[in-house]
Formats: sequence, C-alpha cells, structure tokens
Amino acid sequence: MNDLPDTETSEVVADHSMESTSVAARSAGEQPMSAVQELAPALQDALTGLGNRRHFNETIEYVLQAARPDGGIVLLMVDLDRFKNINDTLGHPVGDALLRVVARRLQQSTRGSELCFRLGGDEFAVLLSKGGDGEVLAARLVDVLSRPYLIEGHVANVGASIGIARADESCITPATLIRHADLALYSAKDAGRHRWHAFAPVMAQRADERRDIEMDLRKALRLGEFKLVYQPQLNIKTHTLTGVEALLRWHHPTRGLVPPDVFIPIAEEVGAIGAIGEWVLRTACREAVDWPGAPRVAVNVSPLQFEDSDRLFAAVEKALSASGLLPSRLEIEITESSLLRKDKRVLETLHKLRALGVRIAMDDFGTGYSSLSQLVAFPFDKIKIDQSFIRGAAALAGGGAVVRAIAALGASLGMATIAEGVETEAQASMVQSDGCTDIQGYLISRPISGSQVTEMMRTFNNESKPEEA
Ligand code: C2E
Ligand code: MG
Ligand code: MG
Repeated sequence: MNDLPDTETSEVVADHSMESTSVAARSAGEQPMSAVQELAPALQDALTGLGNRRHFNETIEYVLQAARPDGGIVLLMVDLDRFKNINDTLGHPVGDALLRVVARRLQQSTRGSELCFRLGGDEFAVLLSKGGDGEVLAARLVDVLSRPYLIEGHVANVGASIGIARADESCITPATLIRHADLALYSAKDAGRHRWHAFAPVMAQRADERRDIEMDLRKALRLGEFKLVYQPQLNIKTHTLTGVEALLRWHHPTRGLVPPDVFIPIAEEVGAIGAIGEWVLRTACREAVDWPGAPRVAVNVSPLQFEDSDRLFAAVEKALSASGLLPSRLEIEITESSLLRKDKRVLETLHKLRALGVRIAMDDFGTGYSSLSQLVAFPFDKIKIDQSFIRGAAALAGGGAVVRAIAALGASLGMATIAEGVETEAQASMVQSDGCTDIQGYLISRPISGSQVTEMMRTFNNESKPEEA
C-alpha cells in the first residue's frame, strides 16, 4: 500500500467510475472513450467493448493494403505483467473488471487514428493507422497502465510490456508486422517487463535460433543426447555424503553442451518436458540403485509436470518398480511455483508420493514467492536454500539473516535445510553456524557422472569419519 501514488498526479480508477479520465488523456486534450462502441457484435470484444481479434486482423489487413510501404503504420502489442496473479489471488471477476479499466485507460490515452483492440486474455494491441510516434505512445502506455487499479475495494498493481513494429519495405504483410511486434514484446518481457522495446532484426535471428533448438530438442531423447550428472550433498553433522542431485545435460551434436537453464524452459514451452522428465526419473533411479552406501538421489520436477499429476505419479511409481530403487532413496525437488497453482491435485500428488515413501524437497527457496504458508501447506523433508543467499549480491545484502531464519524455521518444522552453491570454506562454516543441516556446491564437488558417484561414495564415506567418534 505504501506505493499508492498521490491522487493529484495519478489515477486510481474504481471500476464503477466510468467517467473517470486519466491524466494522460486530459493532458493530451482527448475526450475519453472513442467510437469503438458502435462495432458490430461479431467484431467487438464482449468484456471491454474494444475491437476483438477478428476486427484486429481485418483492420490490419485493410490498413496495410491501403497504405504505401512508408505510410508510417505502427503496431503496438501490449501485454499485462503479472495479470495471472490477479486472477489467482483476487479471482476472475476482479480480473475481468481490471481488464475493463485497462481498456478504458488505453482508449483515454490514444487518439481516433490509434485503434485499440483486445486480442484475448491480457493481450491488447494498438494500431497507429495514420503514422505517429509509437515509442512516445508506448512510453505513455507503460506509465498509464502501471498506475494502481482500485477494483471492488482491492488495490491491484499490474504493469505492461509493449512491443513495437513499424511497417516498411521489409515488413509489409500483416503476419510479418504482427510477428515483429510479438518478438519485440517478448524481448521487453525478457528484459524484465514494465517497458517497451522496438523490433530489431537481431530479435528475428534469435527467434530462428530458438526455433532450431526447439526442433532439435524434440529429437534429442530419441537420439540419446541427454545424460545425467549428479552433485553430491554433504551432511554437516555426520560429514557423510547422504545424497546427490541429478542434473540434466544435453550434448548437442553441433552446439556442444546446452545448459538446462536454456533448454528446460523451451522443453516446458513446447510440451516436451513430460517425456524428458520421465526419462530423468527412469535414468536416475536405474543408475542410483547400485551405488554403494545407498545415497539418496534427488530429481528436479518441473511445475509443468504437475499439470498432469496422474502422469507424474505413474512415472515415479514406474521408475521405482522398474529399477528396484527403495522409494526412500528417491527425493523429488519441486519449486515454489508448483505450489502456487491453486490446484489441490498438486498437494494430493505430493501426499501420495510421500505415502509411497518418496521424499519431497522444496528447491530454490527464497527466490520466488517464498511464502511461509507454503512451508506449512506440506510437510517437506528438506528446504533447499537458494544459492543467491550463499553467494552473490543477496548474500552480501544480509543473506545470512535469511539463511538463519530459514534454518531455524526448518528446525522447528522438522525439515532438513541444505545450503546450495557453497563454493568456499568460509561459506561452509557460515552456513553451518547459521544452522543449516547440509551443504551442496562446488566446494564438495561439481556435478559428476554416475560412475564417479560410485567411486566417490566408496572413498569419501570411508575416509571421512565424523570429527568426533
Ligand atoms: P537447481 O535445481 O537449483 O540446481 C542447482 C544448480 O546449481 C545446478 O546448475 C548446479 O550445477 C549449480 N551449482 C551447484 N553448486 C554450485 C556452486 O557451488 N556454484 C555455482 N555457481 N553453481 C552451482 P545446472 O545443472 O546448470 O541446473 C540449473 C537448473 O536447471 C537447476 O537448478 C534446475 O532448476 C534445472 N534442472 C536441471 N536438471 C533438471 C531436470 O532434470 N529437470 C528439471 N525440471 N529441471 C532441471
Ligand atoms: Mg534442484
Ligand atoms: Mg536449487
């Protein structure tokens, strides 16, 4: 609430105050609401009254045909930031009301020749049919749309990201203009949202490269290009290796090693993560079964795998039965975003996995939405404290206090707490005195192959006895 702006200079629009006029519109000398309401129903978005996608497609086609290549036609693709949160937390009626206010702010900030459309969801478009400065308008819209919304007593904050494309000799078809604006929009979102980007040719090159990776990724499983490596985890008290985390590697025939941070999001987007995730589970269980000392093996599971939680559960059961691995040796790492989905099947599935004997760890804790309620919503076996609190900027800016707080919380909830990304002795002794039970990081070992785990389990746990017998 402390970022509520001064009402003299900003607009807090109540959904029922239809007359309310924005500062931007007033200062531009505009009348609120343009003539879009006279649209035929088939061309109108029922929720907001703006032109719908069909109207957008027809208009863009018409405008481009009628114009000269240098006619100054500019397209702005507008996408709200964090709108899904509003729907998830305040409910769909509030989400719908907010979309209506967004539509109104768009109209109040544009002129008659700047046509506004709602393409669906939280996606809007503005077409400058008679020239104009797309950048200036985009900057104004980013500002206007990010002002707080007062809806049914709730103050909601969303922002907007905008992609701009201009029709010219190299971009004269509706499909190209839309693609360019979309690419610019993705670029704005990637750069951190709440901003606008204008299309640049390098964006199309990057998109082509990504499409190539996508196509190769679909074949990678079949071609056997994935491997697992394992990173050991050390229990501080007993000074023994108690488990390893399985980390996926893609050896691409020409690109070399593609890091998971690059290909997992693509696999999630193209729907390949289900099959890849099953391969990871199968392979990790099979490789781990004969390791000396019976360490646990932790497997990362994508939030998207929880969308089909029956399939995920079946995959775990099958991986265990096919390999003969004891369920208590398998640990599933989930991230906070898996629990954010307000789907009770996620919790049900976690409980079913626990009933099988599988352990559940909360990964990267502290980075996402980090709600304490998540920790009491499910009895996790382990909390993995994100490496940013151990190393880097967050560590310097009081990360120790966060680590101590999470470790204390873990101790009182009966959950192990493991510090991720420990690289130095100094960091190890710090997290130890902060109360963490385990550590993982380059100090103990970089990720290693399955056969190296066998060797390491033999040597390390035999040589390294507890400090005090
Ligand atoms: P994560 O689950 O948090 O895994 C830990 C990451 O930190 C790994 O990166 C590991 O190599 C790196 N790391 C460990 N210790 C240190 C350290 O001391 N210093 C530094 N700088 N880094 C350290 P990696 O293997 O690149 O994996 C990145 C992320 O990709 C993982 O983060 C995980 O979210 C995801 N990922 C990896 N394998 C899988 C998988 O099989 N399935 C899914 N869904 N995601 C996976
Ligand atoms: Mg992990
Ligand atoms: Mg992690």
